[in-house]
Amino acid sequence: MKIAVVGTGYVGLVTGTCLAETGNTVTCVDINEEKVKMMQAFKLPIYEPGLDLLFHRNIEQGRLKFTTNLADAISDAQIIYLALPTPPDGDGAADLSYVLGAAKDIAKLIKEYKVIVTKSTVPVGTADKVIKVFKDNTSVEVDVVSNPEFLREGVAVEDFMKPDRVVVGTESVRAQKLMAELYGPYVRQGNPIIFMDARSSELTKYAANSFLATKITFMNEIANLCELVGADVDAVRKGIGSDDRIGKRFLFPGVGYGGSCFPKDVQALAHSARENKYDFKILESVMEVNDIQRKVLVEKMRKYYDGQLKGKKIAIWGLAFKPETDDIREAPALYIIEELLKDGAIISAFDPEAMSNVKKVVGDKIHFGDNQYDILKDADALVIVTEWSVFRTPDFDRVGTLLKSKVIFDGRNLYDLQKMIDCGYYYNSIGRKTIS
Ligand code: NAD
Repeated sequence: MKIAVVGTGYVGLVTGTCLAETGNTVTCVDINEEKVKMMQAFKLPIYEPGLDLLFHRNIEQGRLKFTTNLADAISDAQIIYLALPTPPDGDGAADLSYVLGAAKDIAKLIKEYKVIVTKSTVPVGTADKVIKVFKDNTSVEVDVVSNPEFLREGVAVEDFMKPDRVVVGTESVRAQKLMAELYGPYVRQGNPIIFMDARSSELTKYAANSFLATKITFMNEIANLCELVGADVDAVRKGIGSDDRIGKRFLFPGVGYGGSCFPKDVQALAHSARENKYDFKILESVMEVNDIQRKVLVEKMRKYYDGQLKGKKIAIWGLAFKPETDDIREAPALYIIEELLKDGAIISAFDPEAMSNVKKVVGDKIHFGDNQYDILKDADALVIVTEWSVFRTPDFDRVGTLLKSKVIFDGRNLYDLQKMIDCGYYYNSIGRKTIS
């Protein structure tokens, strides 16, 4: 099939590349000229494991192209994907200006039937708004399909190539057939393509992300309680996770959820609820708890240093909002850095992929190291914010020698408590006994 993808961010670029991988001809279009130039020069603008191989292969085979020209990108496309940002506006609602703006531009250009697929995460009723934009701007027939994306950054290629499910929201049989044909190769193992109406499909995405954010937040509260009652959240996690109804995943407590999706999607769903005069109490609490949880590690440090963080040298391992990505949108590390700087701490940080992105935000307010050990020299404490594999089994003797004091605040519970006792560290983690 011939496909156009509008927007080449984490979702658009993975979608375009993975659709080309099964033999489709894909043109990706973006307004960011610098990004497009990079991709035309065979360079990936993001870090996403496994993407480079597919990206290069499909460009070389002539199935994947990049342009800034919307008209060229869509002229012979049967299906046009919208993978555009939907950031929160001032009161938490999803800003639809990118999606509706692109829809209007497309409507003015098309000359024959197209399927317009919304991959962006959009509130209920957006498909109707997109349909109206087309009706107002062209007499050409289109079908508008809601096809929310469930990929996870860090394993995005795997998730796209072998999705647990594909949700397709449209009542048009013509569009359903085309989408079934397109996604057939990705669900050969038998995972479902679930057809539904567009409104249900749009809500499915928000329900999924909000449910996961709630699950994390629940565990964060259990962890906080564990500390007060002298229980160990690791044991509790294993104890409840072995129940199939609960499941083992998404039960790890930490420093609050972040990233480009959970915070904005929870906000947007809560906003939709408010708009519809529904008091979605759980979501309001989830947001409130997460705001507090982001600062939990800083509060532990303030307590340890009796509120005297001024001049303390703090080394941070991990800046990305999660491992295996360079994405720092709503990353807990940014909140922690902001608080520590407010208190006058001197920060040095290391992350395998996200340092250049953080540098764009904080400039030279913090120091960045070439490796994870560099930044430890003479630091008063090590703080772990992202659970990159490389931080899981460090050389503790080397860490202890480099640090001024053997003090670790761990927001991801990476280390065994007995190991910390044996190595002689002060070790403060989430929902577990503090080793001192
Ligand atoms: P992103 O910010 O990484 O990328 C968006 C891209 O769109 C940018 O490259 C930008 O230059 C481009 N763009 C903006 N306006 C444009 C226009 N008029 N024409 C062409 N290109 C334009 O965003 P993302 O993370 O890929 O997310 C896109 C959507 O997918 C959002 O709605 C998001 O909620 C959703 N989503 C994201 C993820 C994720 O993990 N990142 C997962 C599932 C769903």
